[in-house]
Amino acid sequence: MRVLIVGSGVIGVTSAWYLARAGHEVTVLDRQPGPALETSYANAGEVSPGYSSPWAGPGVPLKAIKWLLMKHGPLAIRPRFDPAMWSWVLQMLANCTSRRYAVNKARMVPIAEYSRDCLRELRATTAIEYDERSQGTLQLFRTQKQLDGIVGDVEVLKQFGVDFTVLAPSGCVAAEPALARVTEKFVGGLRLPGDETGDCRVFTEKLAALASAAVDFRFGVSVQGLVQEGGRVTGVRTAGGLLTGTPSSSLREAILPDCSPPSVCMFLSIR
Ligand SMILES: Cc1cc2nc3c(=O)[nH]c(=O)nc-3n(C[C@H](O)[C@H](O)[C@H](O)COP(=O)(O)OP(=O)(O)OC[C@H]3O[C@@H](n4cnc5c(N)ncnc54)[C@H](O)[C@@H]3O)c2cc1C
Repeated sequence: MRVLIVGSGVIGVTSAWYLARAGHEVTVLDRQPGPALETSYANAGEVSPGYSSPWAGPGVPLKAIKWLLMKHGPLAIRPRFDPAMWSWVLQMLANCTSRRYAVNKARMVPIAEYSRDCLRELRATTAIEYDERSQGTLQLFRTQKQLDGIVGDVEVLKQFGVDFTVLAPSGCVAAEPALARVTEKFVGGLRLPGDETGDCRVFTEKLAALASAAVDFRFGVSVQGLVQEGGRVTGVRTAGGLLTGTPSSSLREAILPDCSPPSVCMFLSIR
C-alpha cells in the first residue's frame, strides 16, 4: 500500500520507519528543508512513560485562562468560527474532571510504556545514537500539597506495574547528590527508574537518514490544505500541485487498531 505522511517530526519519521518496515511504500512531505526542524527540534528530551499525563485535568481550565493572558504563555488560541475547533474545546473541558483524568491517564501510561519498549528494541536493532541515557528520572515536589496530590498517579503506576519510588528529601539526595545543597526547596520526590532521556532532534534526524533507504522524503513541500470528499480526506494541496488519494481506513485499522492517527500524521494511499 502507498502511504503519504505529512510532517517529518519525530511522529512522522517513526511512523514512516515502521510503515516501511511493514512493507508499505511511504512518502513523507515536509515544508522544512530537513526533518525535526519544528517541535521535535528542541524538546526537554524526556522519555518518561510514568510521567505521561493528559493535558486535560482538574484545574487546567483556570490555568488555561492565565496562560492565554500571559505575553509568552504556553497556550495560544486564535478564536475563529470553526465548529470543529469549538467542539474540540468543549470535549477538552469535559475531560478536565478528576474521573476523566484518571481514565485518560490509565490509557496513556501503558501506551507510553509500550512506546518506550519499542524505542529500546529500535535502538538494539539499529544501534542508533542520540545522546540517550537510561538512568531514570526524579520529579521533585516543592510543597506537601503537590506531594499529596500524586496519590492517584501512583495508583495508575501500580496498576500497570511501572517501577517507582516515592522518596523523602534524603532519598532524593541519595539519587542525585547535587540536591544536597537545596534540600529546603523540596519536600520529596517521585523516582521513575525505567525512564530515559535523549536528544529528540538527533534521534529523528538519524532515523530519517536510516529510513531514507526505503522512504521517499520530500522536503520544502508545504501542504496548503486538505482535500475532502464526502467528509473524508482524499488528498493534500501543495504549492507544487495536488496529491490526491483515497482514505485508507483499512490501513489505519491494520496499523493502529485502537488509536486515532496523530494529528500531524495523515495516512492516505496515494495514486
Ligand atoms: C518545550 C517543549 C518540551 C517538550 N518536552 C518533551 C519531553 O521532554 N518529552 C516528550 O516526550 N515530549 C516533549 N515535548 C513534546 C514533543 O516534543 C512533541 O510531542 C513532538 O516533538 C511532536 O512531534 P511531531 O512530529 O508531532 O511534531 P513536529 O516535530 O512539529 O513535526 C511536525 C512536522 O510537520 C511539518 N509541517 C507542519 N505543517 C506543515 C505543512 N502545512 N506542510 C508541510 N509540513 C508541515 C513541520 O515542518 C514539522 O516538521 C515537548 C514539547 C515542547 C514544545
